[in-house]
Amino acid sequence: MSYSRIAQEIAPSATVKVGTKVKELSMRGIKVIGFGMGEPDFDTPEHIKEAAIKAIRDGFTKYTPTSGMPELKEAICEKLWRDNKLKYSPSQVIVSCGAKQAILNIILVLCDKGDEVLIPSPYWVSYPEQVKMAGATPIFLKTWDENNFNISVELLENAITPKTKLLIMNSPSNPTGTVYSESELRKIVGYAVEKGLYVLSDEIYENIIYDGVKHASPASFGDEFMKKVITVNGFSKSYAMTGWRLGYAAGPKEVIEAATKIQDHVSSNANSIAQKAGLAALKGDQGSVAKMVEEFDKRRRYIVGRLNAIPDICCLTPRGAFYAFPNVSALYNRSIAGTIPKNPSHLVDLLLEKARIAFVPGEPFGSDNHIRISYATSMDAIEEGMDKLEKILSA
Ligand code: PMP
Ligand code: GLU
Repeated sequence: MSYSRIAQEIAPSATVKVGTKVKELSMRGIKVIGFGMGEPDFDTPEHIKEAAIKAIRDGFTKYTPTSGMPELKEAICEKLWRDNKLKYSPSQVIVSCGAKQAILNIILVLCDKGDEVLIPSPYWVSYPEQVKMAGATPIFLKTWDENNFNISVELLENAITPKTKLLIMNSPSNPTGTVYSESELRKIVGYAVEKGLYVLSDEIYENIIYDGVKHASPASFGDEFMKKVITVNGFSKSYAMTGWRLGYAAGPKEVIEAATKIQDHVSSNANSIAQKAGLAALKGDQGSVAKMVEEFDKRRRYIVGRLNAIPDICCLTPRGAFYAFPNVSALYNRSIAGTIPKNPSHLVDLLLEKARIAFVPGEPFGSDNHIRISYATSMDAIEEGMDKLEKILSA
């Protein structure tokens, strides 16, 4: 019996796979230092947890409207206005089970078989697979370390065809840490909008940004942008709420209505208790976000310093998110613990087996030259992991 096109075409998530593997090994008593999954190691702030406990006690345990409970959608609109200068009404917002579902909803609304979707590469692992689920074709806009992994209008110009439907932007970027300035975004997204494309702006790392760099939301650039840009965000990263599964999309009313029809038949509403927690997150003290970012910043400086001190590893300093994305291609022609690695996957397997450190290989992000290292883990773990890496590579 043959399975469906989707079941055959899509790859498993490499980030989830590495995260699961580390958890499994540690349950079996095997100590591994995990730099895999992009998941803040901080606990969800207390006031958010309390709101969820209260929701359970109050019996807020029934279905909500598919697109989310009205108070949460109001609070999301207030947040988008306060932080992003985006003027949306609740009818332009859908709350989903994580930003991951919000992105899939939007892709399924906008893309059909034969359509092309432009994705700056390296990219987050789920974008191309979700595009394939819609039957559309991912087209990669290849970027390199030398240009700080930035795409340009020229790259777009060369890639757009009559079939191009959507451009996916992700600033700050997972995995590269690239953050586009407002003026760069105005040019790039402006060009896409002028050419009639939709743009999905995945802003899940908006708060995790360093060196005084400012986040910009392209939908705020004017009316033409509001008509074509769909903004996606969520609670996983800013509020350390990965397991709660809560994210959202905001955009033109018709796009959100169509996304709601799809979600009606997939999950209905996002978890009602998580929605109450999300409301507390948006309404409550935002101090915990700044504290997390301060801590991530210390780890970022430390890890980039340690990586660049290792011969044959070259790592740009990320300006946002919590990933280092070093170029490791110079390691491919030398022996490491008796084996010569051929590519990122081979190297990552070798490091897990011989040094018990877990990274995500570059291939599923679209790179044969890099590995991804999440520094959303404790400073002690980072120090120990970098010691192990240095030791195995210098042996
Ligand atoms: N976008 C990017 C770039 C991500 O790294 C992730 C992973 N958290 C998501 C979207 C999805 O986030 P979630 O579903 O946890 O809200
Ligand atoms: N987004 C995080 C990562 O890239 C979590 C896992 C996932 O959803 O891909 O590691």
